[in-house]
Amino acid sequence: MLPRYQVNSASSSPVQPWLFQVQPYSEESFGHFLGRFRRANHLSSAHLSAMLKQRPYVVSYWETPSRRRQPDASALQHLSQLTGVTVECLKSMRSPPGTKLHLLTRLCSCCYSESPHHRWSWQVAERSHCEIHQHRLLEVCPDCRSTLQLPSYWQTGTCDSPTGRLGQRCHLPFQEMSVAQKPQKS
Ligand SMILES: [Zn+2]
Ligand SMILES: [Zn+2]
Repeated sequence: MLPRYQVNSASSSPVQPWLFQVQPYSEESFGHFLGRFRRANHLSSAHLSAMLKQRPYVVSYWETPSRRRQPDASALQHLSQLTGVTVECLKSMRSPPGTKLHLLTRLCSCCYSESPHHRWSWQVAERSHCEIHQHRLLEVCPDCRSTLQLPSYWQTGTCDSPTGRLGQRCHLPFQEMSVAQKPQKS
């Protein structure tokens, strides 16, 4: 994480917010990036929405692919000013317009072991396998069979389902899920 820096936004807000900047990972998905940025700055999605002068639910909708909401050009510009990440880079965190998305969150455990972030390419509907490891992408935890959380909530890199064994949270690390990813038969 980089040191705090002052946002040089032309915002009419009376207080210039001071924000932590987070560096995007290569191919990081928009929702995963937004979640990291919010946590670094202790912002709820409603709070970030307000800073962007949007309705309270807007950021949570951006983080939820099934909502099919995307920031428009002015919202992207404003988000760029807050995050210090260029508009071009923010746009590159999403699949190209018109791409059919898989709505359940997917994961390649091997990719995650190499760099702990969600890739936008995992949600492209027609790609059911990781193109690097040739493994089937996971969409449920191999231990408790719960669906994976939205990437914006991937704080610990573990399954956070409350339905694990013995009534406790599952906590299976994403890195340990690779055994459930069978190699693709060619
Ligand atoms: Zn992979
Ligand atoms: Zn689990």
